[in-house]
Amino acid sequence: MTVNELKGVGPKKTLALEKMGVRTKKDLMYLFPRDYQDRRYITPIVQLEIGKAALIRGTVRRVMKDGYRRGRKRTLRLIIEDTSSAIEVVFFNAGFLASNFKVGSEMYFYGKPALYQNKIQLTHPEFSSSEGLQGILPIYPLTKGISQNEMRKWQKEIVSLRTEIQDVLPQKVVEENNLCPLEFALRNIHFPAGVEELRQARYRFIFEELFILALGLAMMRKTEEKGIAFATSGATEEFIRRLDFSLTGAQRRVIEEIRRDMERDIPMNRLVQGDVGSGKTVVATAALYKAVKSGFQGAFMAPTDLLMRQHYDNLKASLEPLGVSVAFLSGSMTQEERNSTLKALASGKIDILVGTHAIIQPSVEFHRLGLVITDEQHRFGVNQRISLYEKGSHPDVIVMTATPIPRTLAVVVYGDMDISVIDELPPGRQKILTKAVGTGARDKVYRFVAEEVEKGRQAYVVAPLIEESETLDVRSATEIFEELEKKFRDYNIALLHGEMKQQEKDEIMGRFYRGEVQILVATVVIEVGIDVPNATVMIIEHAERFGLAQLHQLRGRVGRGEEQSYCVLISASAGEIAKQRAQIMVESSDGFYIAEKDLELRGPGEIFGSRQHGIPDMCLAALVKHIDIMEKLRGEAIGILAEAPNLEGEELRPLRDKVEDFFGRIDRFSL
Ligand code: ADP
Ligand code: MG
Repeated sequence: MTVNELKGVGPKKTLALEKMGVRTKKDLMYLFPRDYQDRRYITPIVQLEIGKAALIRGTVRRVMKDGYRRGRKRTLRLIIEDTSSAIEVVFFNAGFLASNFKVGSEMYFYGKPALYQNKIQLTHPEFSSSEGLQGILPIYPLTKGISQNEMRKWQKEIVSLRTEIQDVLPQKVVEENNLCPLEFALRNIHFPAGVEELRQARYRFIFEELFILALGLAMMRKTEEKGIAFATSGATEEFIRRLDFSLTGAQRRVIEEIRRDMERDIPMNRLVQGDVGSGKTVVATAALYKAVKSGFQGAFMAPTDLLMRQHYDNLKASLEPLGVSVAFLSGSMTQEERNSTLKALASGKIDILVGTHAIIQPSVEFHRLGLVITDEQHRFGVNQRISLYEKGSHPDVIVMTATPIPRTLAVVVYGDMDISVIDELPPGRQKILTKAVGTGARDKVYRFVAEEVEKGRQAYVVAPLIEESETLDVRSATEIFEELEKKFRDYNIALLHGEMKQQEKDEIMGRFYRGEVQILVATVVIEVGIDVPNATVMIIEHAERFGLAQLHQLRGRVGRGEEQSYCVLISASAGEIAKQRAQIMVESSDGFYIAEKDLELRGPGEIFGSRQHGIPDMCLAALVKHIDIMEKLRGEAIGILAEAPNLEGEELRPLRDKVEDFFGRIDRFSL
């Protein structure tokens, strides 16, 4: 069933279609319109508006062909009349069209009325003697050598053939979800009978796409693997009882979800999402304690040396009193320290090892690794995570992230993981006062920074670039740093950016951490979970250049202590979107809400940034719009797999083929 069987498709057109990935009639049938034009209504000529495309129906009253004149275009002019009025229709250099128009016949024209010498006219409209121009018309993606009209003609021909195409979706799924039949959907996606029919058709195909996605993801879950069933020991309850603060409801719920997972003999693979400051660490600590109480070791991986030390200090403080031994491994240890740590780890003397990616090196051997936790996982590559996982025998896995991703999107991006959300902040948290200002207020802003520093506080100043750029009019971190050094000679000011060596960065962060530096000028490198409670001011220069989710992360660096904290967004743009974005930041401190707004304003690409998620943009866009059905699809997919784990059987064959297609794509996912 190749396309060259269609009328008007010769070798040239075949080649052009091939360029669009269309070889068979089925390919063509699945080449959907990129848009539609609503031409359902016929506009009386008297109601035509300049510049607004419209469909008219009228009788051809006159056909006038200009003779050839030097330097002038030859024109073909028609007078078309309906019951309301008449209009001139003009074609340039198109005398050959004249034979299409017979005086007295009724015709349809579609075009944009324009004013010429004070008269309203239609120039080069589409025309037809039949009703072909009326309705909701498809607009197809095209390629050189193929016109919109040709494409429509072929599509029309194919639709009328009513070729039998096997449905990918099982009948049961179609019925249960009130989807329209495939044949109906195909006809109406190309030539909608009406708006409602088009909606149904589209829904059906989006459903199909997302269903394949959900099914593929569900199949990736390796449920047949046997994992560790940790003892039902009441260890988490004991841990919670011993805390000197009470957990939030969300923390309790997530710990409970983790406990249940740990006690089952299926390997846990859980993503814990929680806004900055929501208290993820204590949740991780409870899980580690349970693992140790069951006779296993735990590993905790953090992306930077400083964060690793922070976690080490925390874990040590809360777990050592309970008899758990905590150690760390870092690249900056001496060989001797390292060797003795490794030995203690291999013999099982160390219960919990905290480390940077230093802990995935082959020389690091655990005695009995049962639980692996990675913090701020987007900083780690997939392979790094797998390396750590393989140091145990199907250990349980928890991945913690502060990047707020709307839940259903996370379902897809982290496909094979269960998701827990800590959607509540510990009580008594102060709201960070946020202000959005223009560049004119800059002096005032820095006077405020000085006041806070005089009170003994510390401040961050974040800029989008490290150095001045020739092409962008943007203040760089280096520039700001030099300015501030001149301005505030009495303060210690430091510069931190991503091109520095890790050791240098750690050293500078360490000085800020200890209060030896009052103002830290930085690029987004400080985004990750640094906790300096004495820092109360976050100034973000060129806030218009950051994503909202990113601004939220940055803001989360302050407001971690007792004092009132502030965030000032300095924007160099007065645009409407910039204003809206700033307003969202001023009004909300809810990371998930902000992420969703970011999604609306800038699309999914921004949230994921450079993350190599591998999901096609188109799919992501559909997901964002139809996020509500993704959860449902997931359940549906799991239901089908329960009956046919490998999609066996003749009825599921088309589905299996499509999922296999998709697995080709899925292989590239970073899951
Ligand atoms: P994040 O989720 O950003 O990693 P942390 O785990 O670092 O947050 O917690 C932030 C701070 O809040 C820590 O100082 C922690 O001890 C404290 N904290 C966590 N949970 C609670 C709670 N339920 N009540 C009071 N303070 C808490
Ligand atoms: Mg944290």
